[in-house]
Amino acid sequence: MEAMLVSACLRGVPCRFDGRHKATPQSAEAVAGRTVVPFCPEVAGGLPTPRRPAELVGGDGQDVLDGTARVVDDTGRDVTAEFLAGARRALEAARRTGCTEALLMPRSPSCGRGEVYDGSFTGALTRGDGVTAALLERHGIAVRPAPGV
Ligand code: SF4
Repeated sequence: MEAMLVSACLRGVPCRFDGRHKATPQSAEAVAGRTVVPFCPEVAGGLPTPRRPAELVGGDGQDVLDGTARVVDDTGRDVTAEFLAGARRALEAARRTGCTEALLMPRSPSCGRGEVYDGSFTGALTRGDGVTAALLERHGIAVRPAPGV
């Protein structure tokens, strides 16, 4: 059975910034028949739960990997280092468990794929990837945003 890295919050782990999870029937259905590797990059990067919400500023996760954008929380604290550490640990976990695909939480500054919050903390979206999604994609792991969330 092929392994798939999945955002831990989609699997019912209450690891989101607000201490909640985001499990949905649609995301459970999307991984049916697969060996699921649940993973939360932000927790793995050393951030607590609950934590302040964070957004990408100056670009998306691809730009964070290139050193031209940052991740900051809503108090202005720079959490780029934690997001990068979590992304690297997610990649290590994917490689260790043989995952070639990932199903990740949409819009998150870590897990988002294709669109993310725009850094204004207003709920507005922009095109781009989260830091973990960007790193996984750069290393050949196909990332899909989870349906139904
Ligand atoms: Fe979910 Fe990813 Fe945020 Fe962790 S970092 S709470 S797995 S969206």
